[in-house]
Order: sequence, then C-alpha cells, then structure tokens
Amino acid sequence: MQCNRNKKYMDTASVVKVVRAARMRAALALAACVVAAVLPAMAATVVEATLPVDELAPGVFLHVGVHAAATPENHGAIANVGFIVGTRCVAVIDSGGSFEEGSALRRAIAARTPLPVCYVINTHVHPDHVYGNAAFASDKPHFVGHRNLAASMRARQAYYAAFVERSLGAAQAAQSVLIAPDTTVAATQTLDLGGRELRLQAWPTSHTDNDITVMDIKTGTFWLGDLLFRERIPVIDGKVTGWLATMESLAMIPAARAVPGHGAPGTDWPGVLQPQRRYLMAVRDGVRQALKAHRTIGQATTTVAASERDKWLLFNDFHAQNVTAAFTELEWED
Ligand SMILES: [Zn+2]
Repeated sequence: MQCNRNKKYMDTASVVKVVRAARMRAALALAACVVAAVLPAMAATVVEATLPVDELAPGVFLHVGVHAAATPENHGAIANVGFIVGTRCVAVIDSGGSFEEGSALRRAIAARTPLPVCYVINTHVHPDHVYGNAAFASDKPHFVGHRNLAASMRARQAYYAAFVERSLGAAQAAQSVLIAPDTTVAATQTLDLGGRELRLQAWPTSHTDNDITVMDIKTGTFWLGDLLFRERIPVIDGKVTGWLATMESLAMIPAARAVPGHGAPGTDWPGVLQPQRRYLMAVRDGVRQALKAHRTIGQATTTVAASERDKWLLFNDFHAQNVTAAFTELEWED
C-alpha cells in the first residue's frame, strides 16, 4: 500500500477513519439542516440511492455511465462501473467518480448478494473510475491495478483533488479520496472469486500508461475499461500508436461480449472496436500529414480528423486535446 501525508491519498485504515469522521460531520450537518427545515428533498434521495445495474450475464452486473461531464448532480457517475459475483466473494470493476457513486454501487451489490467485496479493480487512473474506492474500504478488499497505477495516482493527486472539488463541489470531494492498489498487475494475473476466475492483463501505454483489462472466464465477458470507448469520443492520455497496437492484440482475444469504459456493452466482438479504430487512425494519420506539411498544433486541431466530428458525443470537449497529444507524440517520429 502506498501512503502519503496528503489526505487525498491514504491507506485503507486512514480512509476508514476519514470516512467515519466525514459521516459524522455529514450527520451533524444533516441534523442542523433538519432543525432549520431547509433539507432539500434531493439530499435524502442521494443518501439512499442504489446504483441501477443490469445483469449482462449470470453474476455479471453493469451500470452504464451518462455521457456528460462530472457535476454535483450526477456525482461523477459518468463511467461504466460494475461487479462480478462468485461463490466466495464479489469483485468490483471500477468504483465510480465519487464516494457517493461508490456507496450507491455498494448498495446495489448488497441488494443482490450478502457476499463480501474481496477485490476492487481499477482499470486505470482516471477520476471517474477510481474515486469510489473509499466506499469499499470497510470491506477491506484488495485494491487491484496496473503496476503503474500507484505512481500515476501520486503524480496526479493534487490535480485530481482540485478537479474533483471543482466538478463535484467541496462536500462530495471531502469524502472522495484516492486509494492506491495493494495488488498490482505487471503482465497477467488470475483472481479467484470462488467457482469463478477473472483473468487480468496489463497493457503497454495506450489510453493511459496504466490500463488493465478483466476477462470473466465463465461467461466470456471482457471488461476493457477505457481501452474501448463507444458513442463518446475516445480520450488519448497515453499514446495513439500504442493504443492502436493494443487494439490489435485485444481483437485476437476471444470474448462473448465486451464492456467498454464508456458506452453500451456489445456482443459484436471484436467488431465493436471498429469506430474507435477508425477515429484513432484518422487522428494518427492526419497528424502525420500535418507534421509533414509543417502545420502548427493549432492548425492541426482544426483540420485533423474533422470528418469524425458528427460521429462522437463530446467531440468538441476532447478532440483538440487528442490531436495535441498525438502531435507531441508523433513530432519526433522518423
Ligand atoms: Zn479514462
């Protein structure tokens, strides 16, 4: 377990203390609000909320996130999160964008099984996938991630803490803390949930430098994290060339269904990779052409892969950033 004096990044025991203290503060604040008779109806709803999930296959449950930016109203629940139930225990795959979402996911699990959560798997470092971790601290699970995940959390903790406070507000940010993995995946690893094994695989730099996938061997359900975006524009926070290479390897793995990090699950595997491959290739090839023509990054952001504009949600929010990332990656290429 990685530790840090910064309270946005701490070990499980500390998190439990902080969460308890935060709950106490929240309870006192709630009491004050009731006395003042100003408790908004929505606050009560949030406290009791259970995250809606669909059972994709026996024992495999998924909540599909909304295609939006994180806001106080949606609690950062913008990524796909879920869980898989064995005969011994439960594995969570991505915990959500806030303590609130993680808690709602924990209640969804409790509504379906009394079994404990033994693993919380983070597919990668992005806030919408990891900030629900603290909601599972009292289960004392193993937190599982890529061998680069802890370093990435450390490097980004200050930025992410500010981001969460800015996007979700101070109250939600106070309970939403990073918990680093105590179990890391360097290549492949198998987790046993009792009568059910999950095969985890770590990938070279692609969407980020810490992407892992999870295969539920029993049902052939392949959780790709943000190595697969559907409907919502992919975000390049690693290497566009690495990501395309990883997609070639992913396509060789047999699966009955794919669960993306954003967007609907699909059974057309590996066909569901195609729109993302088309977009990433358009960015890569367009940036190479722009470099050859001695265009600036600014020029490239407005011209490269412009034909993709109407094919993705949130295109205007992330496309220029993607072109910029690809430009800096490819400008020293031979
Ligand atoms: Zn991501």
